[in-house]
Amino acid sequence: MTEELQNILTENGIGQKEAEMMSLYGQYLINENEKYNLTRITDVKDLAVKHFLDSVSVLSLKGIDFDTEVLDIGTGPGFPGIPYAISRPRAHVTLLDSSNKKIQFIDEGIKELGIDNAETLVGRAEELSHDDRYRERFGLVLSRAVASLNILIELAAGFVRQGGYFIAYKGANADQELELTGDAPTKLGFSIPEIYSTDLAGQDHKLIVFHKTRHTDDKYPRIYGKIKKAPLG
Ligand code: SAH
Repeated sequence: MTEELQNILTENGIGQKEAEMMSLYGQYLINENEKYNLTRITDVKDLAVKHFLDSVSVLSLKGIDFDTEVLDIGTGPGFPGIPYAISRPRAHVTLLDSSNKKIQFIDEGIKELGIDNAETLVGRAEELSHDDRYRERFGLVLSRAVASLNILIELAAGFVRQGGYFIAYKGANADQELELTGDAPTKLGFSIPEIYSTDLAGQDHKLIVFHKTRHTDDKYPRIYGKIKKAPLG
């Protein structure tokens, strides 16, 4: 499987060395999947496109400094954070998830593969975002498949430093989700968001980009129950 995965990745513009690392991680993911129940995606083509190529699609955006402190909220088995870290060795990537089990899986993976520009963090985004060590620290915050956008932007905003970006990976419903956020981006310190389509093997993948221009008020994020019950916007 490793070789086939590697080939699909290099055919799609990933460098040889990076594709090799990614395919090793893909193999590790499949090997451990039974034990940890990490992903429903097991077909090699889907693994290449939906996990690895989708994760690094963000790197095609213009005008963003990618070699920065990066946070991946709700990384699960390491997406998009791991492929990102492999592709940008000069970035430092923090992989955050509330599930101990998933973080343990990633910890072993980064150790085995020697991915030394990534570290993990266990906890809930809405709590850690109030921690001084993480508050407005990251130049780039990423998140994929964690919550609807009106909830997710409140989870993310407090982590992003002024001048930095939050990018949400979304699918076909990106426009509707963005509409539902109303004036929440402004309330949280972001300027007007923009949507970009990424051309991924015919799939409708969208990136919603939020630029943080002002500080986020300390009252955000609220506790999860409140965010969920009454999302901003
Ligand atoms: N980003 C990955 C995994 C998505 S599954 C991917 O795209 O494949 C969503 C993950 O978000 C789960 O692992 C869950 O534990 C985590 N999660 C959900 N809410 C969270 C929160 N408030 N703080 C931290 N992690 C959260």
